[in-house]
Amino acid sequence: AAAAPEGLSTCALQQLDSAHYLHPFTDHAALRERGARVIVRGDGVYLWDSEGNKIIDGMAGLWCVNAGYGRTSIADAVHAQMSTLPFYNSFFNTTNVPAVQLAALLAAVSPPQFQHVFYTSSGSEANDTIVRMVRRYWQLAGRPEREVIISRRNAYHGSTMAGASLGGMAGMHAQGSLPIPGIVHIGQPHYAEGGRGMSEAEFGLEAAGWLEAKILEVGPDKVAAFIGEPVQGAGGVIIPPSTYWPEIQRICDKYDILLVSDEVICGFGRLGTWFGCELMGFRPDLIAFAKGVTSGYVPLGGVLVGGRVAHTLIDKGGDFNHGFTYSGHPSACAAALENIRILQTELLVERVALETGPHLKACFAALVAHPLVGHAETCGLAGGLNLVRRKGASVHDCEAFASTHAVGMLCRKHMFDNGVIMRAVGDRMIVAPPLSMTVAQIDEMVERIGYCLDLTL
Ligand code: PLP
Repeated sequence: AAAAPEGLSTCALQQLDSAHYLHPFTDHAALRERGARVIVRGDGVYLWDSEGNKIIDGMAGLWCVNAGYGRTSIADAVHAQMSTLPFYNSFFNTTNVPAVQLAALLAAVSPPQFQHVFYTSSGSEANDTIVRMVRRYWQLAGRPEREVIISRRNAYHGSTMAGASLGGMAGMHAQGSLPIPGIVHIGQPHYAEGGRGMSEAEFGLEAAGWLEAKILEVGPDKVAAFIGEPVQGAGGVIIPPSTYWPEIQRICDKYDILLVSDEVICGFGRLGTWFGCELMGFRPDLIAFAKGVTSGYVPLGGVLVGGRVAHTLIDKGGDFNHGFTYSGHPSACAAALENIRILQTELLVERVALETGPHLKACFAALVAHPLVGHAETCGLAGGLNLVRRKGASVHDCEAFASTHAVGMLCRKHMFDNGVIMRAVGDRMIVAPPLSMTVAQIDEMVERIGYCLDLTL
């Protein structure tokens, strides 16, 4: 069991937290009532709080601790780099060893069109970079009027002005006069938006068709790019029909529009392939990544830049007036190098495809027998369970609870109190555990989930 550090009691830490710390996406009045839970240690797929409770982390931190907690070799790699060169910038004709090595490694593990990387420190910055880069690309290509980027409702692309604008979260737009100009949204491939009476395959084609309709509405000559997450994560682990992404690719090709894959969650093995676009069958021009590249040990993100954009920027571009102090941060790149080495040597991505992903799918399919669970879906090591008032023959026929979120929040609380972390997106309970989770640990997690579903009944 771990104790709160430096002799501070949990209560004292909570008081300091409440007095000084503004948390992301948090209702602070409600948090003050409850007190924040203080997490003090992690090992493998487990966390410990300051009261000594052991918790199985079904969310890999925040979709990022792919290699699991307690990897001392990542700490050692960062320590060695910090002792040698903790930081230097890459602005003025300089570079550094880990940033170069990582760029080459990223080119090796990503689809063949990607030979270049632009570094950031987060997924939000990666998506901001994409907005700047896409528009710069079209200027250089002699088509500066191509400025509009099409995204999707309920997408999550980050919290900066451009990231939140690309995102399709109404609650975020409402608080910031967003989206910024030049970003428009279409529906997501989710049953809430249609598909009744259609096969999955038909619905995938219909939902992709919304992109073509939007391109024609905006004017094909004005559209710069389409961006999407291969599987929408924060929106609730929304897994598109298999026909969706190939049709999106066909439409982007038809209108000569750049295709952008936001792989901040799906990248680095979450779906059982290194990148989600490989599973979903499309060939993006740009990829945003973050989270799993370092398993969250140190902040790092970036944009993988495909040949079409990279060669235009390099050959015709002159200065690209964009970048961050921490672009190519050597200590963060050292963490990524060791993290990717772990993913490779322990075959964690292959294990998701062949062993742990199929096991999670079978476990979630069995949970549909529970009276609260209307339906369940998984893809690799990401999954969602819909809590419903009454089950139906199809996803369209389940009856939702009158007050969306109340049951999800109650279920999440039971889980929190009983040693398992899932997130509630409305009444959909979602998981994305570390890729190092074993089959036996999946069983342990699912057993606890079942117990907490009983408590929620
Ligand atoms: N894109 C996606 C798909 C995400 O899920 C997230 C974060 O959850 C982001 C972008 C933003 O990343 P960050 O929080 O590192 O800025």
